[in-house]
Amino acid sequence: MQKPHVALLSSPGLGHLIPVIELGKILALHYNFKVTILAVTSQTSQAESHVLKSAISSVVNFCDFLDIPPADLSGLLENEAAVVERLCVVMRETKGAVRSVISNMTHLPSVLIVDIFGSECLSLAQEFGMLKYIYVASNAWFFSLLLYTPILDKQVQGQFVDQKEALEIPGCSPVRPEDVVDPMLDRNNRQYQEYVGVGMGMVKGDGILVNTWEQLQYRDLQSLRDENLLGGMLKVPVYAIGPLVRAPEPPTSSTVELLGWLDQQPSESVVYVSFGSGGTLSYEQTVEVACGLELSQLRFVWVVRRPNSGRADSAYFSIGDGRGRENDDVSNYLPEGFKERTHKVGKLVPQWAAQATILRHPSVGGFVSHCGWSSVLEGITNGVPMICWPLYAEQRMNATLLAEELKVGVKPKVLPAKKVVGREEIARMMRDIMEGEPNPIRERARELKESAAMAMKIGGSSFTALDDVAKQCNESLRHVHKQN
Ligand code: UDP
Repeated sequence: MQKPHVALLSSPGLGHLIPVIELGKILALHYNFKVTILAVTSQTSQAESHVLKSAISSVVNFCDFLDIPPADLSGLLENEAAVVERLCVVMRETKGAVRSVISNMTHLPSVLIVDIFGSECLSLAQEFGMLKYIYVASNAWFFSLLLYTPILDKQVQGQFVDQKEALEIPGCSPVRPEDVVDPMLDRNNRQYQEYVGVGMGMVKGDGILVNTWEQLQYRDLQSLRDENLLGGMLKVPVYAIGPLVRAPEPPTSSTVELLGWLDQQPSESVVYVSFGSGGTLSYEQTVEVACGLELSQLRFVWVVRRPNSGRADSAYFSIGDGRGRENDDVSNYLPEGFKERTHKVGKLVPQWAAQATILRHPSVGGFVSHCGWSSVLEGITNGVPMICWPLYAEQRMNATLLAEELKVGVKPKVLPAKKVVGREEIARMMRDIMEGEPNPIRERARELKESAAMAMKIGGSSFTALDDVAKQCNESLRHVHKQN
């Protein structure tokens, strides 16, 4: 019997590709579908291309992997164009290449799944008669704001960040003006209009897949399904299929060494510090993090990057600095003598660490995270409490969700991307999540770990939702056969 062929399209950035690969793996391994991953690639550093290769090699035995080089954008983008504008332009301009890749396939896919920046390409699904889904690799509250932004665009006068009241989204928690996603920070920036366009594109699929689970975000998911709330705008089913998280990659020699060190540390005693695939700190902030770690006297593993000169997302598209500097000596931008003073209690990893492997190590008991959603899920599924340190994209919303609603972490008093978080506060937050028995934040992290596992097990809410999607995919195949 012929099996469904699902094409998954990922926009540039490891943070986009990794969740798409995980979804592809499940569809291939669990449902035995033919899966082709279409990855629009961006320039990557040496360390990241290692991760990319290892992510691809973890999947090539089950999925086809096609690299789609982005179109030539010279002349289309200013040097300082923001990340969302870049992503939208890249995806729009690459649509022709995606069409020709699909039309040249001998076994035409019957299903197309795109990430939120790929909705332009959903018209291809229409063209080829495919079932079409949007995969939101983030959470349902963020998705609600994205969907509702075109309405807020009409309702709200002036800058969102200057509003006195929180932004109301039907059926969901309001969003504080300072927590809005990056592209909403300045309505005069070109990426804002692109972002409104992304929001409008969310209604173009036959269904939405979200990397969350019912128990975690019941209220937002209900709103997205309720005709009188956001469901009235969306009008298509919403499947909470998460948490889909990355399996640990085969360790490199430096990871093996690090794991050996972790093996010797007491249980839940080490704080892991990382700002995601594209995040960097200013020089001043890097120094405060170092001093905060020293002050806390806790054990740590810190993924250190060269400080940025103004943009926390500077590493995302290799804009300027922060990336491709694997051979940098990290002590160049740390306080003098820091490395030597802390070498017994701390490990510095330049640029990129095997995060999925480190977070599941029993010695790791805390996570200083930029709150990218994949990192959040990796923290939660390992029951690790977090210091929520948002930098860009939707990370401020994620941090608020984690610290204030789910109570699985703490947040600095100031917004890290705007002001420097001081060493005393850093040390205090570390003690908040690491010390005390019982520690309510750690207890909560354990509960959420359990809830995530329940959602994914046979009969669990996410397991069942994925089964429903798989049934639709099988239906799509029958439909295509009928057409033929
Ligand atoms: N990651 C990693 N090592 C690093 C930094 C990041 O393995 O040093 C992985 C991390 O485990 C996660 C992904 O990169 O799977 C980052 O995705 P996330 O959504 O957290 O953040 P973003 O891509 O926005 O930075």
